[in-house]
Formats: sequence, structure tokens, C-alpha cells
Amino acid sequence: MNDCIFCKIVAGELPAKVIHETDRVVAFQDIDPQAPVHVLVVPRRHIPTLHDMADEDGDLVGEIFQVARRVADKEGISESGYRTVFNCGGDGGQDVYHLHLHLLGGRRMAWPPG
Ligand code: AMP
Ligand code: ZN
Repeated sequence: MNDCIFCKIVAGELPAKVIHETDRVVAFQDIDPQAPVHVLVVPRRHIPTLHDMADEDGDLVGEIFQVARRVADKEGISESGYRTVFNCGGDGGQDVYHLHLHLLGGRRMAWPPG
């Protein structure tokens, strides 16, 4: 996907502050953080939305969450708590169509979300 900014970050063609990476997943700082800790966890493979994942991608979803847990430990928010969010599609508020899990922490989150 030539025009996908997250594919470019994964390929090292766009700068990002990478926090953690595995063979299949990369975690990097959000460019416009909404909390003291705001990290995006993305698969290296281009998948537009959560809804585009195949049934056999379940282990990839699991790995994305495992990386989010590692990042929460690294960033020191495991004890205080954090929020993980997949925005999916238009009504879900998704702006970048390369699957990403938001990891937010370092402040108390509001509920319900806006
Ligand atoms: P979403 O609205 O769920 O699609 O979230 C997209 C997120 O990507 C937003 O939080 C943006 O701030 C973030 N973002 C956009 N461009 C970049 C970039 N070049 N590097 C890091 N984060 C980005
Ligand atoms: Zn992509």
C-alpha cells in the first residue's frame, strides 16, 4: 500500500518513535497524543480495519494485545491502568485505514467515549 502512512512507518520510510517490535507487530508513539502515554500497535501487514481481519488472524490480534501489555509495562502504566481501543470504520472514528490498537494511559480516562 504505497499511500498508507503506517505501512511507511513500518518500512522505515516515515519517522516514528518505535517503542517495541516483533516479527509481525510494531508499536510507536502517536504523533498527536491524547494522553501522557499514547502508543499505536500495528501489524506489519496492511489490514485496513478490524473488520477486514480473517478468521485465522485471531493469533495476530492476540499478539497485538500482548505487545500492548509489554508497552504498558515499559511505559510504567501497568499498575495505574490504561485503555486499549480499536476504532473501526466511519462511525468508529477511524481516520487511518491501517489497523491499529490505541494504548492510552497516564491519566484517568472518561466514559462514555465521545
Ligand atoms: P484513528 O482515528 O483511530 O484512525 O487514529 C489514527 C491515529 O494515528 C491518530 O491518533 C493520529 O494522531 C495518529 N497518526 C496519524 N499520523 C501519524 C504519524 N505519522 N505518526 C504517528 N501517529 C500518527
Ligand atoms: Zn498500511
